[in-house]
Amino acid sequence: MATNRDLQTELGRYQYVQELFSVGARVPVVSELTDISPWLLRKFYLDSTGEHPSRGPIPSSLDWYLVGTNQLQSSLFLQYYMSVNDRDHDLRIANLLLAYRLWSSSWQHTGLKKTLTFDRAWWLIKLLDSEQLKAQCCRVCRSLFVVGTRRMGTYRCSACVKTRLQYGPRVKQRDYLPPREKSSSSVSGMAYISSNDSSSVS
Ligand SMILES: [Zn+2]
Repeated sequence: MATNRDLQTELGRYQYVQELFSVGARVPVVSELTDISPWLLRKFYLDSTGEHPSRGPIPSSLDWYLVGTNQLQSSLFLQYYMSVNDRDHDLRIANLLLAYRLWSSSWQHTGLKKTLTFDRAWWLIKLLDSEQLKAQCCRVCRSLFVVGTRRMGTYRCSACVKTRLQYGPRVKQRDYLPPREKSSSSVSGMAYISSNDSSSVS
């Protein structure tokens, strides 16, 4: 016989299901996050909305995250996700939902088209966990960006590359900040100064 505690847990899981559907998550994604069968989820969706959930493939691309505004959206989402990812409360659904909502309201202010769906945000975190993508700080503005694992050395974001192109190397040198995690006297720090921008964005 189910105890009161079991029922509370089950209720909590279905509350997450509702929240996940409300941000546009697809059935396979919700199923993986909540451990509820796709069949039950489809039935739940149909009962609560009167419509069938949308079908089709879930994200599988890796390169999608590295291009244009997709990269900007992904990087901004990642910054939110990392800021809400409390180690003491490692509940992935709650963190994903909170980060996605924060990102969504923030991105809305840009007036740019939103292409990062919740499913893509979920897939991004999986790609980072499995080290198929990585997060790297821009060496100039120090913001965190999603980059490919083949990228070696330091990274400059496209905005900082454009700033240099517009104002020339002098301004760039004045704006240059050494990476936070390394002192300027380290081997890598020396390499940045003498590399003559060989590691700019490709
Ligand atoms: Zn930058």
